[in-house]
Amino acid sequence: MSRPASVIINLSALRHNLARVRQLAKDSRVMAIIKADAYGHGLIRAASHLAEADAFGVACMEEARELRHADINKRIMLLEGPYSGEELAEISDLDLEIMIHDPSQLEMLEKTRVKKPLIAWMKIDTGMHRLGFLPEQVESAWARLQSCPAIDPKVHLATHLAVASERENPMTEQQIATFAELTADKATPKSIANSAGVLAFPESHVDWVRPGIMLYGISPMSDSTAWDEQLQPVMTLHSRLIAVKTLKKNECVGYGATWRCPQDMPVGIVAAGYGDGYPRHAPSGTPVLVSGQRVTLIGRASMDMLIVDLRQHPTAQVGDPVVLWGDGLPVEEVANHAGTIPYELLCGVHKRLRLIEHG
Ligand SMILES: *Cc1c(COP(=O)(O)O)cnc(C)c1O
Repeated sequence: MSRPASVIINLSALRHNLARVRQLAKDSRVMAIIKADAYGHGLIRAASHLAEADAFGVACMEEARELRHADINKRIMLLEGPYSGEELAEISDLDLEIMIHDPSQLEMLEKTRVKKPLIAWMKIDTGMHRLGFLPEQVESAWARLQSCPAIDPKVHLATHLAVASERENPMTEQQIATFAELTADKATPKSIANSAGVLAFPESHVDWVRPGIMLYGISPMSDSTAWDEQLQPVMTLHSRLIAVKTLKKNECVGYGATWRCPQDMPVGIVAAGYGDGYPRHAPSGTPVLVSGQRVTLIGRASMDMLIVDLRQHPTAQVGDPVVLWGDGLPVEEVANHAGTIPYELLCGVHKRLRLIEHG
């Protein structure tokens, strides 16, 4: 048997989650966000199975180029781009759309001639204060884009929500209202919602929604699970037990000997570790599934191995299947224990893992 650590991608779950987006945002078009290698799920794989989306959103040229080279002809938007004027010729050749969020990009565009005017999305900062034109810059940026020869005059409009994962936070309503006010006189396609907007703020749906994390079967909401939101996890991080032993009371496990057995007890060694993308900071007590039975991590995660407490599952044997997150064990729960968010765990899954597709 080769090293059993693997990542299992459930493609029918991916399609199901996109259908769930459609169900929630019936009147909107869907730009599926597949940056960061489709949140660790594989860019081309995800794009091929999200063929029902109306467009794709990526972070950079490298991702867009890979999609075009795989003959994906759908609309593609560079969510932060262009990063420099040198990219514009290829952006035009590959027929990409660009998010314009800063005056430096306007200057870059005004100096450029392209064969065919580019579709631009003008990003407005309605309160997140990351990217976008401030409300007082909107009219001048809009006018400059309208008269820029490199840009198609049908400029689209977008903003990004900062706190939509918190249903009760009044900031989201304020952001939606600010965007509406600043764009009321502009009859052009508009976009506000990320996954949390799709799930919790129907007023944010408007012409285009931009879901990412929910496509991969994860709820971004602070108060709901994927199950509550009728989403199915796409990724399962899977491995097997490669050793089982009985330790005596007061014996320690792992590097740093941080965990001591409170009694004589069985422990199992799992072939997966931080070298695969499992969070090294996951503390003792983080849940793990062995043959579908919940047990807990003990001691420090190592590069290739983890140790689990088998008192809850004393009949476990070498070769038993282990789920670190995914099917039967929400990544949200593992992320909570490890002091991080599901996004980071999914993006961090290592390329060395064997990949198994199904569905
Ligand atoms: C990443 C991203 C999204 C998707 O966010 P999720 O929380 O994963 O749904 C949407 N819009 C922009 C601009 C983004 O950068």
